[in-house]
Amino acid sequence: MEAAARRVASCDCGQETSCYGCLRTRRNEYHHDQLSRGATLEVLCSLRDPA
Ligand SMILES: [Zn+2]
Repeated sequence: MEAAARRVASCDCGQETSCYGCLRTRRNEYHHDQLSRGATLEVLCSLRDPA
């Protein structure tokens, strides 16, 4: 979880998208057009720090 958050936060692709360096894997390629780095960061942050 920590590593995932760090990787997503430090990637240099657009916040509205994702790349194979951060979010995209062969396993989730079905969802690639819905994967956005910004939204993922929000989810990861809310999981780490529940309101
Ligand atoms: Zn990326």
